[in-house]
Amino acid sequence: MVGALSRVLASVLHAAGRRCQYCAAVLRHAGDFPLCPDCRELLAPRVGGYCPDCGICYADPAAPVYSCLACRRSKPPWSALAFHGLYSGALRDIIHRHKFSHDHGQGQLLAHLLRQAWDRHGLARPDCILPVPMLPAKVLSRGFNQSVELARMLGKATGLAPKPCGLRKTRDTMAQSSLGRAERHRNVAGAFKAATDMTGQHVLLVDDVMTTGATLTACAEACRVAGARRVDIFFLGRAV
Ligand SMILES: [Zn+2]
Ligand SMILES: [Zn+2]
Repeated sequence: MVGALSRVLASVLHAAGRRCQYCAAVLRHAGDFPLCPDCRELLAPRVGGYCPDCGICYADPAAPVYSCLACRRSKPPWSALAFHGLYSGALRDIIHRHKFSHDHGQGQLLAHLLRQAWDRHGLARPDCILPVPMLPAKVLSRGFNQSVELARMLGKATGLAPKPCGLRKTRDTMAQSSLGRAERHRNVAGAFKAATDMTGQHVLLVDDVMTTGATLTACAEACRVAGARRVDIFFLGRAV
């Protein structure tokens, strides 16, 4: 009887499209949505063993949260950050699918991860949410700017109603992935400019992945130049 009921329940869930949004397994409990228990574990947020200033992840995820040497020497130009976890495994896969395969069917999964990161870090509500911009030509060739998509989803998932504000990229830069750490900073230094007045604003910068932080640093500095009183950053994955 129980077996028959669970089969009925499974078929109902199946019919309702309640599948894990990562591995597509049929979910046994509707409350699990959007992830099955296995994928929930694979995509568990990073709660320990990272730097609260730049998000760099230490080898031991069970280590405490403490500032890395680089951040103790020189604080980044933002006040606080929120992120989901290390840019590897399932998280890397999801971000890749979104960025390079134009897989927009992951909306509910991405919204879940964004919301989880937002709730966990407890950042103050910003006046505006600002995606890291791309040059218009790059947006045209890729078809979309993934940071714009994530910022939109974050605003929707968290109920934040940001004021419009903008940054623009003022010159072409080389792909950051092709460069070393020091070159990345030189590559993007001064490459962003505020498109709106940010006097007194609390800005939240959004990107999909942070690697060295060079791009987010250049964007945060542009916000400061435009008068922002506070800049926080938000990204999904922290690369090492
Ligand atoms: Zn799954
Ligand atoms: Zn750090």
